[in-house]
Amino acid sequence: MADTKQGFDTIQIHGGAVPDPSTGARQTPIYQSTSYVFKDADHAARLFNLEEVGFIYSRLTNPTINALQDRITALEGGAGTVCCSSGHAAQIMALFPLMGPGKNVVASTRLYGGTVTQFSNTIKRFGWSASFVDTDDLDAVRAAINEDTRALFCESIANPGGYITDLPAMAKIAEEAGIPLIVDNTSATAYLCRPIEHGATLVVNSLTKYMTGNGTVTGGSITDSGKFDWMASDKFPSLSQPEPAYHGLTFGEALGPMAFTFHSIAIGLRDLGMTLNPQAAHYTLLGLETLSLRMKKHVENAEIVAKWLEGHPAVEAVTYAGLDSSPYKSRMATVCPKGAGGLFTFAMKDGYDACVKFVNALKLFSHVANLGDTRSLVIHSASTTHRQLTPEQQAAAGAAPNVVRLSIGIEDSDDLIADLDQALKAAS
Ligand SMILES: *Cc1c(COP(=O)(O)O)cnc(C)c1O
Repeated sequence: MADTKQGFDTIQIHGGAVPDPSTGARQTPIYQSTSYVFKDADHAARLFNLEEVGFIYSRLTNPTINALQDRITALEGGAGTVCCSSGHAAQIMALFPLMGPGKNVVASTRLYGGTVTQFSNTIKRFGWSASFVDTDDLDAVRAAINEDTRALFCESIANPGGYITDLPAMAKIAEEAGIPLIVDNTSATAYLCRPIEHGATLVVNSLTKYMTGNGTVTGGSITDSGKFDWMASDKFPSLSQPEPAYHGLTFGEALGPMAFTFHSIAIGLRDLGMTLNPQAAHYTLLGLETLSLRMKKHVENAEIVAKWLEGHPAVEAVTYAGLDSSPYKSRMATVCPKGAGGLFTFAMKDGYDACVKFVNALKLFSHVANLGDTRSLVIHSASTTHRQLTPEQQAAAGAAPNVVRLSIGIEDSDDLIADLDQALKAAS
């Protein structure tokens, strides 16, 4: 099913999907079923022993979600994918087989705000920790890794845009340290960036954003490259040693390149229960059919709008990596040659009050806490998502009081510019 020789546009439609074997239904049905009848007791035993792959219970596996997993695997160029209930769930699921009490993840300072919160506070409840480091300072990245580090974590195109991570350099550091590189590919999607080709071991995606693409679903995925040798050290006992949570199975030995994926289903989904629902998987399968078309248009519009804003007298600066003025433009050629995505921020010359007026005056852009929708979206972080932070923290997060984030949709760019123009006038 995951025919990697096919082109991206073919895979985004056909990957993981065959006509339904029992009905011939051409579109992948929503298998709204909790359980699946075993052929006999022996069949059931083989399924539970992972000797045969099949469906047991929808907290673990479901045919609609399976089709989605196979499609994402093919799009990312990996060995296996596990879907789960949100992008944040995917991050926990990605770390879960690797970490343990006292272990840490080294993470980029340039991450989605919610991820910073999850990593700096919530994961401590599991006895895990994160240290944050500027990923442009490669020596600092190396120095932040210690004997308890179990992963390096960054975003390909970092939310809220304007920053592209040097993925080959990150992968090299991770490889030297004997740990996996985890890349959050949400802002780029596999169409703009394929982290596994740059040496990433795990790719996490929030399906909520561009993957579904129209603001209907909350979901996440983790794709494993299948290339990391979990048996090479004693750092990853859940994968390299008999796993007590699965009657002593050594996943790395028994399942080879599928070890991480099977562990994530058999133990991660079984015991953490962050399962995607079949309806959401169906919407995501529909969305993926047009991923490349949408991403092309998101990029085209973002380039036009960013250039226009850069020339506007009320605008101080625009952080879009696709602009010649961006210090990260040169990284586009290796990391995301088809474009820098549809997300960026801009700073207004006037401050907080002007931004609030601007956001209130917009008509076509919706003021929401989301991104990656067909519709153009806007948020003024300092008065919303980042309002609890101090001015210093806001500035460090790229959410200074005069900064507005845009998620450029796939409407006509002339209409987007007209809306921005009238709102900038109203704000000044
Ligand atoms: C939205 C987002 C997430 C979290 O995804 P949810 O589906 O909202 O849980 C993680 N990383 C990035 C880059 C995001 O944009």
